[in-house]
Amino acid sequence: MTKLWGGIEAGGTKFVCAAGTGPNDIRAEQRFPTTTPTETIGRAIDYFRQQQAEHGKLAAVGIASFGPIDPNPASPKFGTITTTPKPGWANTDFAGAVGRALGVPVGFDTDVNAAALGEWRWGAGQGLANLIYFTIGTGIGGGGLLNGKLMHGLIHPEMGHMRLPHDLTADPYRGRCPYHGDCFEGLACGPAISERWKQAADTLPDGHPAWVLEAHYLALAMTNVICTLSPERIILGGGVMSHPTLLAMVQREVRELLAGYVQSPAILNNIDKYIVAPGLGNQSGVLGAFALAEQAFSAAAR
Ligand code: ZN
Repeated sequence: MTKLWGGIEAGGTKFVCAAGTGPNDIRAEQRFPTTTPTETIGRAIDYFRQQQAEHGKLAAVGIASFGPIDPNPASPKFGTITTTPKPGWANTDFAGAVGRALGVPVGFDTDVNAAALGEWRWGAGQGLANLIYFTIGTGIGGGGLLNGKLMHGLIHPEMGHMRLPHDLTADPYRGRCPYHGDCFEGLACGPAISERWKQAADTLPDGHPAWVLEAHYLALAMTNVICTLSPERIILGGGVMSHPTLLAMVQREVRELLAGYVQSPAILNNIDKYIVAPGLGNQSGVLGAFALAEQAFSAAAR
């Protein structure tokens, strides 16, 4: 029988909740602002109770969360948001609160790991065991699967904070990451583009030097990821990527930066199928949460 999944895309500014069975069946999506943990998680639980009253029991819930988080099921702090500077949210037992209230298994991971899993399950990453997903938007984050499993390790990847070569003569902008200044996110997130060029990023026209510089930083970061993790595909989502020519500029520059060293036809001949847009559009997150629910359900059944 088809299982009904609950999904939460938990962002620092808003929550998106949905119930459904997959990409062609997302029911009654609800959005509300992220306020205090008690109020916001409470609203999510109320939403799922209402869905259960209408559609029957949820099999599991998946949470694609802002972070940093503890995504390791073997850890005593599994399911918590750990050290976030967001007021009130540090050390919040998010997955535990949802699981106790609804009595279902709960999958819990970073928003970008979840999006990668969603793309693997239903989108542009189907059939691949090594896949990276980035969101390039208000912030920058990256996650993915290595050898068929979501990447955790020490904590979880923080690819948005990798350091990139920064030529201060060509780009004197100091970056906006509160921790590192000119890390990847500090140089290349949407608000960094707006701040550097003193103009909203989405109003900068095609051909503006802003996009050449943005493509350069993105290509440097993708080159680092290709050389360290050897992904079979990279998916670039997030609002900044909606600029129409940006993806092609990144593809071209990645090939130039690798300079023929990584000898794979995927890069040499088919880079347009190697660095790609999300197959699920802007629904990678919420469908990723469904995919986390599905994974938690299978793990609980074992
Ligand atoms: Zn940083």
